[in-house]
This record gives sequence, structure tokens and C-alpha cells, in this order.
Amino acid sequence: MPVDPRRTLPPYRIKVVEPIPILGAEERRLALEQAGYNPFNLRADQITIDLLSDSGTGATSAQQEAAAALGDESYAGARSWFRFLDEVGDLTGYPHILPVHQGRAGERILFTSLLKPGQICVSNTHFDTTHANVKLVGAEPRDLPCPEAADLDSSEPFKGNIDLAALESLLTGPDGHRVGLVLMTITNNGLGAQPVSMANLEAVGELCRRHRVPYFLDAARFAENAWLVGQREAAYRDWTPRQIANRAFQLADGCVVSLKKDGLSAIGGFIGLRDGDLHARCEANLIATEGFSTYGGLAGHDLERLAQGVREVVDPAYLGARAASTARFAQLVNEAGVETVQPAGIHALYLNAGRLLPHLSPDQFPGHSLGCQLYLDGGIRCAELGSLYLGGLDEQHRLVTPAPFELVRLAIPRRVYTDTHLEYVAAILADIAKDPERVSGYRIVSSPPLLRHFKVRLEPLAAATGPTTRVGPKP
Ligand SMILES: *Cc1c(COP(=O)(O)O)cnc(C)c1O
Repeated sequence: MPVDPRRTLPPYRIKVVEPIPILGAEERRLALEQAGYNPFNLRADQITIDLLSDSGTGATSAQQEAAAALGDESYAGARSWFRFLDEVGDLTGYPHILPVHQGRAGERILFTSLLKPGQICVSNTHFDTTHANVKLVGAEPRDLPCPEAADLDSSEPFKGNIDLAALESLLTGPDGHRVGLVLMTITNNGLGAQPVSMANLEAVGELCRRHRVPYFLDAARFAENAWLVGQREAAYRDWTPRQIANRAFQLADGCVVSLKKDGLSAIGGFIGLRDGDLHARCEANLIATEGFSTYGGLAGHDLERLAQGVREVVDPAYLGARAASTARFAQLVNEAGVETVQPAGIHALYLNAGRLLPHLSPDQFPGHSLGCQLYLDGGIRCAELGSLYLGGLDEQHRLVTPAPFELVRLAIPRRVYTDTHLEYVAAILADIAKDPERVSGYRIVSSPPLLRHFKVRLEPLAAATGPTTRVGPKP
């Protein structure tokens, strides 16, 4: 059933456009080969539709650019800082706000000020840089996703939740005293962009208070989580997205936020805190490593764009249209015979590559293979979320522990692509789904020890010479 255009209508029109490169098939083949078959190494001017990330890739509004022109670049106490502080302070309700240049700087500052070596940081699912920053301070990241998350096909509304029973038994068990932080990622980016319910956030808060453990949100997509709560959680049906987001922040002791997503800007982030002592420790670290506490590595014009961005992002018309557009995209892709993680979230579509390419075993990286094919066939760039990213490798870079799922994430930049661009992606996917066995598997050539997916280099197992080339055993 087609989605009603009254639901997908964006509450804006486009004033400034940017041409997109359209390469020939041979140019794409060469470009991918030179990139070591890792789309992270492609040049952006080799890409037609870039769905690698929704981070810092959104379009700004006329109001944001007008505000940016008013940016105050004073070293300390800039007017732009106070505008940012007013907006973010009001949105979150936290008494202390520290600006940072992006989310991971906030993670590093918070974790060095809060976590001790040997402690455990518990999350519904750590984001990749969050995971790395927990480890860098000598602590242990531990994911406790809810059991519903394991079923990619179920339509449970809040598969981003943490497993409350597992959290409680960890806190009351022998390792309980080692838990130094509980960090809830909203929405759960590592797990299919699934939202976290307010009931879950509230229950985590009660457990944390009972066991005196600090409770933070990793709230990169605070507005998108709020939208899905408003749609799916009965108690919040009449709340605005802004009210829901504010309530979520109020349930926790603080937050780290990358504003490259729901800040509708290319750069930015902040730490929100209630505790004055922790604020003082974080602030000292911020000044030493990011910048003075009234700019934190950001320019005045960035602070202006961000202040306006966090106001625009909670607009129900914007969030409703974006959610409906992703849902429509999911429907087109499903109709083309490619399964996606259900139910569709907002910022990305997660393709089930393992199921589409059963002729490739996990050590041939089916998610990565599908991602490369999308580039070869359509100039589309995306990110693998499967054994290449999450699997365990031996010294020779051979896969020893596969990831639970072989997924591909098509991230959707905010206000950048129209439904026509997404229809193009669905059409390229439909062609692959008609003859999936022509998709070649890959092997790793070289790989760094940390955050492997960014810098890994690969090669195809068999040169995919034509649409009928068959690689790997028949299922
Ligand atoms: C993007 C992101 C981060 C890191 O933020 P950057 O701005 O990229 O440094 C942390 N957590 C989540 C959930 C994210 O999506």
C-alpha cells in the first residue's frame, strides 16, 4: 500500500542544491579497487548517493545560516555561547552544560573524569567510539540489549531497550560493585536504530539510584527517539517530541550528546551534568584538551547553527515526515525482496544481508559484500554492521567468531535526499535481489587493531566478472 504523501511531506523546500557525481561502472570498479574495497576510503566525489552516515551530513536551514552570520567569535563568553546554553539548557534541564566539538570528545572527557580502570560501563548497546573510549580508560564496556532485539523480524515497538533483569542481576551480583556507569543509547544505533521506551529509561533510573550508580544518556538521536516514543508508547501520545526529550534527560544524571545528528549541523556536541563536582573535573579536562568552557572546540558560528538546529529538530512536522519517508523506503526495499530489521526506525535502514546472500558464509563478509555491490552497481555508499565490524579475527585476519547478524546500514542524512533518491537506491537493491549469487565475497588483506572497520583493506574472493558469476558454495 503506498504511503500517503500527506504523511511524507517535508515542512520545507530546497533553496541551495549541490550536484552529485554520477560515474560509469568501470570508474566505480576502479575506485573501489583503489580504496582497498573499503567504502570509508572512497573519495566523496566518487559517490552518487552517500548513505555511509547520518552524522554531520544533514542540510542546514536558512535560519541556521542567518544565525551563523551573527556568530560571535570572542574567545570567552561569546554571545553565541549564551544562545547555545539557553537552548540546550532549556531542552535538557541540566544545570551544567559543556560544549565539545563532537560526541566522542564528550565521551572521552566524561569517562576519564568518571570511570576508573577495572570498572564496568553498562549499556543497552555501546556505539563504536563509545566502546573504544570506555576501553581507553581501562574500563570494560558491557552490552545488555533486551531479548526482543535478537529477533530482527519481530515488530516489537522498543527493541532498543536494555534488559532490565540482566541489569539488576549484574548490579546485585558479585560484579555489582564494579559497575561505574550505566549509559543508555537513544536511539539504539548499534541495534537497528530501535528506540528505547520511557518506561525502560525510568526503570533504569530507579535501579541506578537504588545501587548508587551514575546514569547517563548517549542521546545523539534524542529527537528521533522522542518521536518514536510519541508514536508507540501510549502514556506519551499527547506529549510533544520536545517534552518527551526533556523528560528523558530528566530521568538521567547527565548526558553525552553528539550534535552531528539531531543538532542538524556538521559539527558539535555537549555534555550535560547535574553534579557540580563532576562538572568541575570535566571542565578542567575540557579546557586542557578541547577549548575554553564557553566554546569547547566550536566556533561561534557553529554554536549559532546548533542552537537553532536543536530547536528545529523537535518540530513534529519535520520528524513525522522523516519517519514516514524512512518507512516508505523500507516498504520499497521489502517489496523488492530485501528484508530489513523490523520495525523501521528513522535515521537508517538496516538490510539483512545474511539472508539475501546465503551463498556467502560469515567469513566471506556478506554485509560488506552487499555494500560493495551497492557501490559497484549504483555508486551507493553504506556501512557494514556484521562480522567485518563486530566479528572476532585471528592474527591472520581470519574470522573466528562471527557477528550475530550480517547487516548493512543505509544511513539517511537529514533533509538531504528526496524520496526520489531513495527510490533509486531501492531500484539498485531490487536488481541485486533478482540475482544475488553474482555478489562476490571478500577476504581481509590488512586490518588495524582498534576500530577495524574504518581502515581495514580487503579483496574480492573471485572477480565478479558478470551478472552470472557464482562464488562460494551453493546453499
Ligand atoms: C555519532 C555517535 C557518537 C559519537 O559522536 P561523534 O559526534 O561522531 O563523535 C556517540 N554515540 C552515538 C549513539 C552516536 O550515534
